[in-house]
Amino acid sequence: LFAGEWNFICAAPTIETLPPMQGMEIALAGRSNVGKSSLVNALTGRKALARTSVTPGRTQELIFFRVGPELSLVDMPGYGFAKAPKEKVDAWTRTIKAYLRGRVNLARVFVLIDSRHGIKPVDEEILDLLDKAAVSYAIILTKTDQVKPSALPGVIAGVQEKIRRRPAAYPQVFPTSSETGAGFPELRAAVARLLDE
Ligand code: GDP
Repeated sequence: LFAGEWNFICAAPTIETLPPMQGMEIALAGRSNVGKSSLVNALTGRKALARTSVTPGRTQELIFFRVGPELSLVDMPGYGFAKAPKEKVDAWTRTIKAYLRGRVNLARVFVLIDSRHGIKPVDEEILDLLDKAAVSYAIILTKTDQVKPSALPGVIAGVQEKIRRRPAAYPQVFPTSSETGAGFPELRAAVARLLDE
């Protein structure tokens, strides 16, 4: 499935510009620098897929990639735009909310969390948004190569503790490293299982 050819479909800045729904969709969300582009590239096996289509500074767009007719990957922009003007942040939040509520083929949102930092208040905000939209999500821990192997179970437990009281039913936690490829077989298998559901 993932070995197929991935294609860039479109970049949607507004709800009106979303591509028609086709097959199953999974989305990736995370604050900037969390390692999202690296993960998209590692997951799709295309070195520069995430970068080729994204112009720096124009990150407030939903970027759609597709492999075959049955699976689309949606790159959600980095959140926590403390420096952006309020109207822009509000408009973008409305777009994201409309996307999350209306996209019936959206099977899972993967929220990326840096292993070194754990869940921060900006991450809690996106989790709140997902809980309110009643979207199922899972956590992807990125850059696990940056923490000592002996510390990783503690990092995972810390994340699990923070999401324990949320309404979502036991979000899974996937430890990954785009650098070493660790965790990618498990992640791909989880997406393949979603397709079978
Ligand atoms: P984005 O802003 O979320 O798209 O993040 P990028 O994918 O551009 O990555 C941000 C920085 O983290 C870059 O310097 C990457 O090389 C680095 N990075 C991303 N993933 C990993 C990883 O798994 N391990 C390590 N060590 N560095 C990573």
